[in-house]
Amino acid sequence: MGEFRRGFKIWCENIAYGFRRDLGLPKYGPLSPDALAQHLGITVWTPGDLPNFEKKHRDQLLIRDESSWSAVTLTLTEGRFIIVNSAHGATRRNNDLMHEIAHVVLEHEPAQMVTSPNGHMFLDNYSVQQEEEADWLAAALLAPRQAVINVLTANPDIKEAARCFAISESLMKMVIARNGIDRQLKSRRTYNRRVV
Ligand SMILES: [Zn+2]
Repeated sequence: MGEFRRGFKIWCENIAYGFRRDLGLPKYGPLSPDALAQHLGITVWTPGDLPNFEKKHRDQLLIRDESSWSAVTLTLTEGRFIIVNSAHGATRRNNDLMHEIAHVVLEHEPAQMVTSPNGHMFLDNYSVQQEEEADWLAAALLAPRQAVINVLTANPDIKEAARCFAISESLMKMVIARNGIDRQLKSRRTYNRRVV
């Protein structure tokens, strides 16, 4: 992970709770990327939903190049669309979709615009810095720091915590590590032992 501008990480945490509030969700509960996309006016598609998308291209995306792509944002005259790879599992899909939403929330301008043969679709291509920001924000949106601390305080089982937020176990471990949550919970347990 690279360096972020001052205050970026706190801003990510705050906006994660802000969206939960906007959607009437519990502050420390999970946030579905589909619900957030809808809230932001973004339509979520799978390749099968794409109009005028030839079967051979769909098969290319879903069968032949299944592992080579995750999600892509299209800006059409009708609005913004995120196409997610429906061949991937649920937790990966959630992360990929939230990553694309994060680019939208961060108002990232693609470094490069690619026009498709039919002339009206743009495939976004972001800078490394933008990718790192989107990764960080996506994880914060899915599993904000205090929400993870609360869940792990109630039950330290990481697999169970990942299930609570509908994310993969590896993403949960990353969130724990990058926020120093393991250290914090360990020192709290030591403290509790001392006072009892
Ligand atoms: Zn990206």
